Amino acid sequence: MSDLPLRFQSVDALRAQVATWRRAGERIVLVPTMGALHAGHLALVAHARAMGQRVVVSIFVNPTQFGPNEDFSRYPRDTEADLALLAGAGADAAWLPSVETMYPAGFSTRIEPGPAAEGLCGTFRPGHFSGVATVVTKLLNQVGPDVALFGEKDFQQLQVIRSVVRDLDMPVTIEGVPTLREADGLALSSRNRYLAPAERAIAPRLHAVLSGIAERLATGAKAAPLMAEGVASLEAAGFGPVQYLEVRDADTLAPVAQVEREARVIAAAYLGGTRLIDNVAVLPG
Ligand code: AMP
Repeated sequence: MSDLPLRFQSVDALRAQVATWRRAGERIVLVPTMGALHAGHLALVAHARAMGQRVVVSIFVNPTQFGPNEDFSRYPRDTEADLALLAGAGADAAWLPSVETMYPAGFSTRIEPGPAAEGLCGTFRPGHFSGVATVVTKLLNQVGPDVALFGEKDFQQLQVIRSVVRDLDMPVTIEGVPTLREADGLALSSRNRYLAPAERAIAPRLHAVLSGIAERLATGAKAAPLMAEGVASLEAAGFGPVQYLEVRDADTLAPVAQVEREARVIAAAYLGGTRLIDNVAVLPG
């Protein structure tokens, strides 16, 4: 196994290391995560490695992006296992701030993202994208990377972050990385470990239903009836409630009635007590 990554818990020490790399002419890639790392996260690290640059992975379970009835306290945390995985994946540094480091007494600023954060998860998780935008802005300011990588798995999050970085002239390139899936299509997620075996058997239907809709949209079918049919199929498979299943423009996230340029079929649904999200690209034929 490779060496464990350097670990940092203070902003000053982290910045000193980044400055040393910069003086040596190296570029920096940041991969923000909440830990409980799986192969999907490691795909982002591999993507960063392939860019031939220094890779910093942040691990921070951000309290401000969880709602009062969400899973912040039971969210899985295992830093030592994460560090071992990061060593195997070739990350150079792990940025492990505490809640007090990120939100010291007196902290009072929030980033309020625009229309990209409205609808979809924004409707069902009030304040979530403001929490995400705020913590990602802090992480980018702390690390100062040239590039930051985010998974397409969280497609609305990726678009929210793109809009924040653009609107605030932040000197970083945001890149999306395709979703890594299990062999049966289920998108890898830290929350998949909450699924009971019977639920795990049903879970891949989410990707299957979205893919079926995407194929028909690509041949010119109208979105509305497919969306209704998709919700019914998910409910019949055992999902519920289905919070949304929509077709959105891939750039603007505006609703799409019939696909003319790249779009995404995007959904969030509960399976038992676990909330799953997924999305699939539609490329018009
Ligand atoms: P999280 O730890 O859930 O906040 O995820 C950290 C980053 O990994 C985010 O940019 C996610 O979009 C990304 N990610 C999570 N799961 C996957 C996956 N299955 N494939 C690709 N990227 C992922």
